[in-house]
Parts: sequence; C-alpha cells; structure tokens
Amino acid sequence: MTSKEIREAFLSFFRDRSHHVVPSAPVVVKNDPTLMFTNAGMNQFKEIFLGEVPVKYSRVTDTQRCLRVSGKHNDLEEVGIDTYHHTLFEMLGNWSFGDYFKKEAIAWSWELLTEVYKLDKDRLYVTIFEGDEKEGLERDLEAYDLWKNHVAEDRILLGNKKDNFWEMGETGPCGPCSEIHYDMRPDEQRDAVKGQDLVNADDPQVIEIWNLVFIQFNRLKSGKLEPLPAKHVDTGMGFERLVRSIQGKTSNYDTDVFQPIIQFIAEKAGTNYGVDEKKDIAMRVLSDHIRAVSFAIADGQLPSNNKAGYVIRRILRRAVRYAYTFLGFKTPFINELVPLLAKQFEGVFDELIQQQGFVQKVVLEEEVSFLRTLTTGIQRFENYIAEHKAIDGDFAFELFDTYGFPVDLTGLLAREKGLHVDMDGFQGALQQQKERSRAATVIDTGDWVTVSDGDETDFVGYDYLEATTQILKYRKV
Ligand code: ATP
Ligand code: MG
Ligand code: MG
Ligand code: MG
Repeated sequence: MTSKEIREAFLSFFRDRSHHVVPSAPVVVKNDPTLMFTNAGMNQFKEIFLGEVPVKYSRVTDTQRCLRVSGKHNDLEEVGIDTYHHTLFEMLGNWSFGDYFKKEAIAWSWELLTEVYKLDKDRLYVTIFEGDEKEGLERDLEAYDLWKNHVAEDRILLGNKKDNFWEMGETGPCGPCSEIHYDMRPDEQRDAVKGQDLVNADDPQVIEIWNLVFIQFNRLKSGKLEPLPAKHVDTGMGFERLVRSIQGKTSNYDTDVFQPIIQFIAEKAGTNYGVDEKKDIAMRVLSDHIRAVSFAIADGQLPSNNKAGYVIRRILRRAVRYAYTFLGFKTPFINELVPLLAKQFEGVFDELIQQQGFVQKVVLEEEVSFLRTLTTGIQRFENYIAEHKAIDGDFAFELFDTYGFPVDLTGLLAREKGLHVDMDGFQGALQQQKERSRAATVIDTGDWVTVSDGDETDFVGYDYLEATTQILKYRKV
C-alpha cells in the first residue's frame, strides 16, 4: 500500500463505522495560553472533553498535523538522529464523545491493523495500565479482558503511569490507555530477544504506533478521581510509523512519505542516501524540518524573534546548519523543497499548495539572512585561527552565541584545520551564560535572539541543550 492509500483506508474504515471525518486543525495554536502548537489529535477537541461545548458529532476521525518541538512534548533533539520521531507528523485518530468505549475501540484497532493493513499479529504487542496504588489508580482489567479476545496473553503487557495513564493537566479529564507496539526486527533477532522485553525501551525497531486513551475519570482539585458520566475514547496513531510498518521498512525515512524528498536532496547534494551516516542524518533533518517550517508558515506563524516564531526560526536554522555543515549547501537550498512538499500534501492538507509561493519566499529569505550570519562567523573563525593554535572555550562560545554556530560545527571546522577545541571551556562559558540569563529579565544574546525570562524559558533550554547534547550524539555515530 502507498502512504496515500494507507491514510485513506484509515479514514474510510472509521467513516464506515459512522465517524464524521473532520479536517485537521492548524498546527499553530492562537487562542490557548497553555499550548503553542498542536501536539496531538485531541487538541482541537479539548473543549468537548472539558464539557465546555456541546457535542456535534459523537464519533469523529481525522488526520491531524502535529508539531512536537516545545513544552511537554519536545522531540526535536531526536529528530534525524533517530528514525521515528519527527517534528511535524500526522496523527491519525478516532474519537468517541460519550458514545462507544473500550470494547469497540480495542476491537476496531485490532481489526484495522491485522485485517485491513494485514500487519503480522506475531509482531504486535499491546499494553494496558498496570495501576498505581500510591495514586489510588486501579489496573485496567477491563481493557485486559477485552484484549484477550484478540491477542495472546503473553503479548498483553503492563505499562506504568508515565506511558499508560493520560491526563490533560493537574485537574480535568483523564484515564488509562492502551498502546500498540510493532516489532520490525528480522526473524533471527526476534528469536534471540523477545519483543516483549523491548517494548517502551527505546529500541528503534520495536516502536509504539498507536495509543488508545480511555477517558473515564475527572480529577478534582483535591486530587480525587471521580468517574465521568460520559466516557470518551481518544486515539492517536503516528501515520509515518504506520506506513513504515506496513511497507516493511526499518526507518520512517525509507517510506514513500520521505523518500521523494530525500532523493531530491541527495541528488542536489551530489550524494546518495545510506552511504555516510552523518550525511544521512542531515538529509533526514532537512526532509523533516521543512515540513514543520512550511506548515507553520502556511498556518500563520512566520519565523520571528519570539515565542512560536522563534521556535520555527530555530528549526529552520537547525536545518540550514546541517545542510551547510554536512551536505555542502553554501547557498540557499531548503526553500526548493517547498513545492515538492506542497504537491505531496495536495488533497490532504491543501493549505500548503495554496500558499506555496509565499511559504517558499519566506524560507528563502530566512536562509539568505542566516547564511550571511554563518558566513560572517566563518570569516571570524578564519581570522581567529590565523592567530591561534587552538580554539579556546570562550571563542567557541562566541561563535555559538553570536553567530549561531553549534559547537559541532566549530568542531568540524577546527578538525579540518587540525586544531583542538577546548570543550570544557566552552561548557563553562555556556554555563555562565545560562546563569546570567536566569538572572536577567530581558537579555539580548545575539543578533537574532531576544528572550525574556519566563514565557520563553523553553527555548533557552533547547538552545543550550542542543549545543551540549549534539556533542554526545556526534560521538556516537
Ligand atoms: P513515543 O513514546 O514514541 O515518543 P508518545 O508516547 O510520546 O510516543 P503519544 O503521545 O502517545 O506518543 O502519541 C500518539 C502516537 O503518535 C504515538 O503512538 C506515535 O505513533 C506517534 N508519535 C508520537 N510522537 C511522534 C513523533 N515525534 N513523530 C512521529 N510520530 C510520533
Ligand atoms: Mg514521546
Ligand atoms: Mg510512548
Ligand atoms: Mg504514547
């Protein structure tokens, strides 16, 4: 099945079961102070779960474009390095608002996966909430008994509160969930280590594909749970992971969702995908990030210096740095991916094709301006090394802080010249900066970064995190 067919089969499966197909909400959230970007299919139904608006359709289904780059769900660090977390992804979902509950949700998910998509039953695992005595939460035996009708008992696993209990916030609707995981390892490996042991263990070949949330409680201010008069179902399945499972690939990027874009990038970079791990990561980053940036712009969020706009700017700049550093793109290139992407999403999310020219122009302008900064930084680097025999920590930090060089880029440039970078010194300078920024209310950390303490602590965290964790990640590959 092609990815288009897979998406359509999901929607028509639930349409046939009386679900109303609704459009995706924009990825940019404008009227919710607790959320910057849509990060799950249920976001657009929040007011229904809270009982603030009447239910128009009691069964709905859709594919929701989601962005997980800030706040509670921030997967940015993993993107490109691993093969199954994206910045922007589609979450396929079906909902029951006070209509059907666990029985149907469980039976249908199993039917869809095994009969329509024909996924191998011997590679699927399901989890149920194990309960939490301290919190007074019971084991979800109801779900366990229902799963037993479909799945061998040794494939039904217990999951903890973190993975298998969903809450909207400190108070409000909540409930246990069941996740479905898929094991893509070759037979020999599956014989050696049981898949059961690898569920929720960060194994890149045994991954979560679907989460079925059963909203049955309301958490009160006192912390007490009371049963909801009307119970709801909220499910979310990662489309790209599903496609990968059905297409029998070991990476989301090997599916027809990403390959056309990756092939285009590889050709323009004069390389092939699958030859050099560093280049592969860069190609994955580009093919992923352009999706987040393009839809954010199409949905009304321009790159800028604060809040959501700043997050988008950082994502685009991350892509530019990978393109520049590992693929040799010294002039704007990423904007050329916009038309390809727009065409790919035609008929699914038409927002992009409708604004293709505008989106491409914004990306191009961002690329031009950031490449100028990078080039100036490189000039500064050249001048510096003409007079020094090694890169000291303060200078690596200046490049990072003023010119947006992550320390791996500095490391790369230094290696090319056979020079050493004082990483400890860099970390020290980074730490000092962090402390300074904590102390200040408003601080200007460079030519594009203006952050105020408070609202935007998220991004400051990401900035520093990225600078430091990338060092570790690059050592690994
Ligand atoms: P994971 O544990 O893999 O990070 P999750 O438990 O955070 O996933 P959920 O919040 O349960 O994910 O979201 C529902 C589904 O959305 C997941 O089962 C998965 O298939 C998909 N998904 C979640 N995060 C991502 C992502 N960053 N990129 C692609 N798909 C994702
Ligand atoms: Mg996650
Ligand atoms: Mg999970
Ligand atoms: Mg989950």
